[in-house]
Amino acid sequence: MKASLAREVNRLILLVALASAAAIALKSVWPIAIVLAAYIYWSVSRLFELYTWLVQEEHTEPPDSTGLWGDLYTRLEHLFRKERRAQDELNGIIMRAQESVNALEEGVLLIDEHGRLEYANQAAQEMVGIRPQDQQQILTNLIRTPALVQYLHRGQFKDPLELTSPRNDNLILQMRITEFGRGDRLILMRDVTRLHHLEQMRKDFVANVSHELKTPLTVLKGYLETLMDSVPEDQTRLHRALSQMSQQSSRMEALVHDLLLLSRLENTEADKAQHAVLLQGMLQRMRDDARSLSGEARHEITVEVPADAKLVGNPAELESAFGNLITNAVKYTPAGGKIAIRYWQDDHGAHLSVSDNGIGIDPAHIPRLTERFFRPDNSRHARTGGTGLGLAIVKHVMIRHQGRLEIRSELGKGSTFTCHFPPKRLVNKPTAVAG
Ligand code: ADP
Repeated sequence: MKASLAREVNRLILLVALASAAAIALKSVWPIAIVLAAYIYWSVSRLFELYTWLVQEEHTEPPDSTGLWGDLYTRLEHLFRKERRAQDELNGIIMRAQESVNALEEGVLLIDEHGRLEYANQAAQEMVGIRPQDQQQILTNLIRTPALVQYLHRGQFKDPLELTSPRNDNLILQMRITEFGRGDRLILMRDVTRLHHLEQMRKDFVANVSHELKTPLTVLKGYLETLMDSVPEDQTRLHRALSQMSQQSSRMEALVHDLLLLSRLENTEADKAQHAVLLQGMLQRMRDDARSLSGEARHEITVEVPADAKLVGNPAELESAFGNLITNAVKYTPAGGKIAIRYWQDDHGAHLSVSDNGIGIDPAHIPRLTERFFRPDNSRHARTGGTGLGLAIVKHVMIRHQGRLEIRSELGKGSTFTCHFPPKRLVNKPTAVAG
């Protein structure tokens, strides 16, 4: 480029020199003026030619040129070719990415910060009945399922959403949303119909078996009690056997009761006829029950609850959840220990905590504590006579009340189980505090 620029400058100097010589010979400035005008005309024509070539839609071969202009065309042509190659490569990558996303069994949807659909792969189009021409439409206008509208509106995507396909009632979909960029969202959809059916079969099976066990157990328990009453006290071995049989059948009865309660919590819609529950009476009654359960162990049990505290919920379910926490505190706190039941309200909602200074729980076990039948130490806890379902029941009750259970514990120091309810479950702001 430098060489052709030098040649162009030399050519101009030569032209000016010749024109100057002619001007001196003819004693007139016209030769210089004519040469310069011709040079400017020629340069402007080349520039115009270059402009016309640059702005055309389809790139054709550059016009024939030599010198500086020829060099310029060659360089520009080279740059264009490089850019075209890079663009082709990029298009290839995008095509391949689209092809592979299209080949996925999972549905993939992309929506922007305004909820407009930007992309839907083949599987997503089939799962929810979206068409390619629906791009740029608001997703919730295309899928009007209320559960999805609420889920997107809430903006909390930690837990996936399960919903029936708007296109096919027999198809159950699980949606997972990941946020990225500036409010853009990637929605992954999976067909979970088979899993759902299996889960339903499991629930039905547990519910049916528990239900079927109820009657034989009641009969067995009844006969055992009659037998115990009729066997003379001096037949100690027989008495002990009967008493152990009676104890174990009571455990089985508690297990069946808890299993049925759990399956009812899982299988029924959260009670729509929920109402404001006055908590003071309920908690004081529970404290009295806990005192009699404690018996000889003489735990110090206190209740702190505002006199007018009310919570919107299902009273039987709340009682069952709080009862499980309080019973656990008694069971897992050595004799003479302290148990505090506390209820309060604040901007975050309502909270009920049950604290004890009992045996505590290894932090490693806390995440699994609400799983059914999970016990950190089977041999030790079997003796407490629990069913292993108490905390699973508490967790389900909390889910049905849009709340959550928080567990804090330190081995050997004690535990605090707190039920957090959302503000919408509050009825009034409490005033006085009563024990
Ligand atoms: P369980 O019938 O065994 O009490 P739960 O589901 O109620 O079943 O509790 C699960 C496990 O959590 C218990 O076996 C126990 O190890 C632990 N746990 C529950 N509450 C307490 C508590 N207050 N202190 C110590 N450990 C507890």
